[in-house]
Amino acid sequence: MTRKITISQIKDTVQKAYEQVKSNTDGKNADYIPYLANVDKNLFGITVCLLDGQIIEVGDTAFRFGIESVSKVHTAILAMRQYGADKVLDMIGADATGLPFNSIVAILLEADHPSTPLVNAGAISACSMVKPLGDSVGKWKAIVDNVTDLCGGAPELLEELYKSESDTNYNNRSIAWLLKNYNRIYDDPDISLDLYTRQCSLGITATQLAVAAGTIANGGVNPVTKKQVFEAELSPKITSMISTVGFYEHTGDWLYSSGIPAKTGVGGGVMGVLPGQFGISAFAPPLDGSGNSVKAQLAIKYIMNELSLNIFSGENIVISE
Ligand code: GLU
Repeated sequence: MTRKITISQIKDTVQKAYEQVKSNTDGKNADYIPYLANVDKNLFGITVCLLDGQIIEVGDTAFRFGIESVSKVHTAILAMRQYGADKVLDMIGADATGLPFNSIVAILLEADHPSTPLVNAGAISACSMVKPLGDSVGKWKAIVDNVTDLCGGAPELLEELYKSESDTNYNNRSIAWLLKNYNRIYDDPDISLDLYTRQCSLGITATQLAVAAGTIANGGVNPVTKKQVFEAELSPKITSMISTVGFYEHTGDWLYSSGIPAKTGVGGGVMGVLPGQFGISAFAPPLDGSGNSVKAQLAIKYIMNELSLNIFSGENIVISE
């Protein structure tokens, strides 16, 4: 059976989610990266990108915040574009670690690969794979061009965040060199780490993230620019990765309660993909104990539950005027 959801229903629900969650004061900004500790904790925005390119948004959706770990999705797509989905599985993997995002132990436990491009180890490994190998300028251009294609607009490097993160990323430095020890990094470890740090420091808006999610939901075609950014067959691959590890060790709880695969970042952004329906993002800096935005989680859950949407429902949903 087909169920119809109207665009005005979605607009109303997004607005209600915003009102409902806006005054929540739980959580606190990430403080292990000094820049993030000082971002205004009251910022909050939600954007939905429908597959016909319509944008539904409320709140601070034009504020540029640190994309942080959401960028792992973008660069995983780039690695798949350059090498194909099978090679990414082979060289990095697609397994959840069940451990925190920056786990060193996970590298030691996974005997054969860094596990998934969506945790720090696999993301640094994905940066190492980006072509042209050995050319940090060319690699950076490929990463930024890919983010621009996915988001339908250019990101902006937040220099202050980049500096803040580079000065304090000792754990990630250990990860890069440990990967080298196990032959799981495919270019110079320092170049790969620097690219990872820089991509995390890209300033992005909630709307840009929703468009990137919409591109994934839309079989690789950017709903706004209409550009085919990646091959349609890669969409389910990347969505499966987001489903299994998007919230790190709490991914199961998230998927169970929200019904939407989503990826978080310690900058406060969350990007959700509902295949064939829409991309959604929410942004608010205060995080829970696992590094996931409190308000973004509440807002997206509210919208999914209010509209009775769930990736596993098997329902045929048609979104129209
Ligand atoms: N740049 C952050 C780090 O590597 C990203 C963490 C995250 O957003 O989960 O520590």
